[in-house]
Amino acid sequence: MVTLEELQVRTLGECKYDSPLSDYVAARATNAYYVAETDRVLIDDTISLLSARGDTPLTEVPSFEPGGPRRKIFFDPKKTKVGIVTCGGLCPGLNDVIRAIVLELFEHYGVTDITGFKNGYAGLVPGKAPDPITLTPAFVETITDRGGTVLGSSRGSQNIPQIVDNLVHREIDILFVIGGDGSMRGAHAIAEEALARQLPIAVVGVPKTIDNDIPLIGTSFGFQTAYAKAAESIKGARVEVEAAIGGVGVVKVMGRAAGFIACYAALANHDADFVLIPEVPFNLQGENGLLATLRKRVKERGSAVIVLAEGAGQHLTPASRRTDASGNTVLGDFAGFLRAQIARDFKDHDEPLTLRYFDPGYMIRSVPADAADSVYCTRLAQAAVHAAMAGRTDMVIGRPRHRFAHVPISVVVKNTQNVNPDGDLWLSVLESTAQPFNMS
Ligand code: ATP
Ligand code: MG
Repeated sequence: MVTLEELQVRTLGECKYDSPLSDYVAARATNAYYVAETDRVLIDDTISLLSARGDTPLTEVPSFEPGGPRRKIFFDPKKTKVGIVTCGGLCPGLNDVIRAIVLELFEHYGVTDITGFKNGYAGLVPGKAPDPITLTPAFVETITDRGGTVLGSSRGSQNIPQIVDNLVHREIDILFVIGGDGSMRGAHAIAEEALARQLPIAVVGVPKTIDNDIPLIGTSFGFQTAYAKAAESIKGARVEVEAAIGGVGVVKVMGRAAGFIACYAALANHDADFVLIPEVPFNLQGENGLLATLRKRVKERGSAVIVLAEGAGQHLTPASRRTDASGNTVLGDFAGFLRAQIARDFKDHDEPLTLRYFDPGYMIRSVPADAADSVYCTRLAQAAVHAAMAGRTDMVIGRPRHRFAHVPISVVVKNTQNVNPDGDLWLSVLESTAQPFNMS
């Protein structure tokens, strides 16, 4: 469990400047909008969790620094220069985050010097990617109409000292990094290098994970859009297999280590019969195994749909030795293996089979954010700007317990967030699919 000490957010120093937001806040004649620097957001949200810590005073229980505007800020908005970069795979909402950062800086803080670095960390190393671009409210006005990222992205390791040299050369005070776990490790390395050189450069992350597998940040942006899109594919699969004799649909959705998309997409329309996720082991063979259970289901109902998270069943597939440009292991092809096994099993049992495979992965990644995710992206971005202007660094914005909060990068990259096989989400999936509790 994470400690209070680990949750302390690094700051560049004393906040001396009055926040330009005072123009808005003054109209209310209250302190309502400013976050008190002494306030904290508790991690524990039930009496039982809190009591399990014994009689620890509230000031000592693990808690987050709240997100939001500060009365005093670290950077002088008139002189502040900002950079933004997006790295890793695509996810709905990237453009929403970019737009909201630019608008918040421009309209509310009066920061007008904003550079968009192209194609991930490569764009921060001179000569490795197209030149950076200037970001203005006019430029970002309509970028949320499309998915993807206007800044482009990339994988692959870059030289951190060179990145910091470039930030210094360009006089960048704040770098916003929008990306996944790897990007956040990179952001941490940049922040560390800057602090080691005693440079007052704030590095603030807006964590992106379509799999929803980053811990302590609540739900990640784009996740809701992604599972809604995945649910459309599952519905399509249902329609397709219902029309066939012995129809079996396999729908592969994202989820390398965490099966959240598979679970939520399956719950959305009750169209799935089986949900396979990395967190819950299962067997193919045997009386309780997937193949026998699937055959039974098709016999009883005429068809079946299997929703497969891409990281599920890795224990049954030969391990891949390949890695991508960033060093992430390339997963074994369990979806292919499963299809072959189903085909063989139905043939061996002389059962008719119409097998259909759906892989909507890239379609899901590339759609624009839905309205709820757009709102969420905007609010995360605004909180990221408040944090950075107040001199916070080496941290990400999250929304644990539906409260915007600052979380040190070192704690969010330590573990992954997973579907709890003993938790209420997985129970909902079992209830809605009527998939056997145990297939192992
Ligand atoms: P996702 O996996 O969700 O698509 P990601 O941010 O994890 O996103 P990666 O390709 O793993 O995607 O990493 C993005 C960038 O971060 C890459 O340029 C990679 O080299 C860099 N990076 C990853 N880990 C580190 C690290 N420990 N130190 C410095 N840079 C890193
Ligand atoms: Mg990653």
